[in-house]
Amino acid sequence: MRIDLHTHSTASDGTDSPAELVRAARRAGLDVVAITDHDTTAGWAEASAEAERLGIGLVRGIEISCAHRGTSIHLLGYLIDPTHPGLLAELEKTRVSRETRAQRIVERLARDVPITYDEVLAQARDGSTIGRPHIADALVAAGIVADRDVAFASYLRDDSPYFVSHYAPHVVEAVRLVREAGGVPVMAHPFAAARGRTVGDEVIEEMAAAGLGGLEVHHRDHSAEAVAHGDALASRLGLLVTGSSDYHGTGKLNQLGERTTPPETLARIRELAGT
Ligand code: AMP
Ligand code: ZN
Ligand code: FE
Ligand code: FE
Repeated sequence: MRIDLHTHSTASDGTDSPAELVRAARRAGLDVVAITDHDTTAGWAEASAEAERLGIGLVRGIEISCAHRGTSIHLLGYLIDPTHPGLLAELEKTRVSRETRAQRIVERLARDVPITYDEVLAQARDGSTIGRPHIADALVAAGIVADRDVAFASYLRDDSPYFVSHYAPHVVEAVRLVREAGGVPVMAHPFAAARGRTVGDEVIEEMAAAGLGGLEVHHRDHSAEAVAHGDALASRLGLLVTGSSDYHGTGKLNQLGERTTPPETLARIRELAGT
């Protein structure tokens, strides 16, 4: 059984439509794939129809943008009720704030390079969660940078003068909301320091006390030391350990199935969600 529990589609900043994502998962030899778009479940219906057609397992998930004292944290939520009002309200607030924030980033960029917000919107599907990758794609389309990686290494860095942050719920509140919505919260890439600041173990302990289910220990942005640390921390706190690709289609190097999660762990996630 090959299981990949973290992927993105065009419902957020991936480049495959939800159906294409499921087909790509099948081609990559996966038995189960989770769709975990940023702050939206809009890709679920299309992905599940294609998964059913192809006979591949689909785990309905989300990657929630969260914050802890100014540090950005990503929380995976598996098997949530997508209609839970409290959770929906937070996601809606975040998506709206992501749009104003992208407009502000573009305003700042436009002082130095020829780019408009319409060009950014042209890179995203209607209704998809807007993120810096769409701004990167607009910069590429305008011939200003070669690819997303170059954009993130220059104009779109966290510490660039063009950077603006967006609203995100407190991570402990998000853990509670995922549980309330019947889902299982797993902290995404907890030690991916290269992508920006990370939080200390004491924050992960707080999240665990609030109902965190697991840590995504196996992720390409983790060093061997981070993996060892994550395994030890998960075992100390009684958390599950997952591994996933964080595939974004052609938008990133991450390949489907490059990290996987054992079937026993997925079985535990399903038990915790009561499905
Ligand atoms: P945002 O959520 O708008 O702050 O943008 C961050 C998103 O951009 C994350 O989901 C990452 O997966 C993606 N990202 C970060 N660095 C890169 C990169 N070098 N190339 C492509 N995507 C990236
Ligand atoms: Zn992303
Ligand atoms: Fe993430
Ligand atoms: Fe992700």
